[in-house]
Amino acid sequence: MFSYRHAFHAGSHADILKHLITIQLVQYLQEKPGALSIVDTHAGAGLYNLQDGFAAISQESAGGIIRLKDYLASTGSHVSTSINDYLACIAIENTSEDIALYPGSPFILARLLRPQDRLRLFELHPNEIDILRSNVNQLGLGKQIDVYAADGFSRLKGLLPPPSRRGLVLIDPSYEDKQDYRHLEACLEEALGRFATGCYAIWYPVIARRESIALPDRLKAIAKAHQRTWLRAELRVENAPGERRLQASGMFVFNPPWTLQGHLKDALPLLKNALGLDSGAGYTLQSSEA
Ligand code: SAM
Repeated sequence: MFSYRHAFHAGSHADILKHLITIQLVQYLQEKPGALSIVDTHAGAGLYNLQDGFAAISQESAGGIIRLKDYLASTGSHVSTSINDYLACIAIENTSEDIALYPGSPFILARLLRPQDRLRLFELHPNEIDILRSNVNQLGLGKQIDVYAADGFSRLKGLLPPPSRRGLVLIDPSYEDKQDYRHLEACLEEALGRFATGCYAIWYPVIARRESIALPDRLKAIAKAHQRTWLRAELRVENAPGERRLQASGMFVFNPPWTLQGHLKDALPLLKNALGLDSGAGYTLQSSEA
């Protein structure tokens, strides 16, 4: 269970999709002044050095954030609002145009907090939790951010509903353990039972595994049972046999803001063009409203 280290995947195409959508969710929920409660159930280390350690070994950012920046610079493409917002978040951690540091979801969320907002981070890995704590301490936002060495799936329900009734939950398991699919569904059932109007964003890998193939339909069924709206966005960068590396991933959002679909209609074609590696590259955008 503790073999997964997110540093190997920092700044990958999957991180781009996940973080771009997460930023849009936060920004929409902050349009009203009421306090926003954010929970990141699977936090990771928080901040990654792309030029060192696991991230430098895997080089996944070369097919992700670095490739996106190079594409935009070389083509001078019109950049959609959501891509601009995403790049601005990445730039916060970097003093030059070169991207040496890549923020994970805890840093992206932390940098977006207003004084009235609160962020709770869960991480189980014995090494990652220490790195996360040390990284978060640097932010000097101790009063607004809580870090727990605990199971995000089982602890989420105890935080719901938030007192302000305004909440965003990011659920980003590694799915290395097949039980994550089952835990995810149980967690969502409980969470929606307690706080049906919350915004829930779930990242998932699109891979040739029974549980993964079934997941979007199972999430739609949960949304239907709880009478919730939903949005599903997937980005595929290649369609090569063998799946030696992750070729596609998705985000499923319960109670998505009405603005999200439009943002993704602009961003996904550009991300496909920038990050696509073969003719199998593409994207999916579906919602309960369609
Ligand atoms: N959300 C992070 C980001 O976008 O930067 C990446 C998270 S990574 C995909 C998943 C993390 O969840 C790993 O660091 C793993 O150690 C941790 N983890 C695994 N099971 C967990 C659980 N039940 N509760 C909390 N953290 C868990």
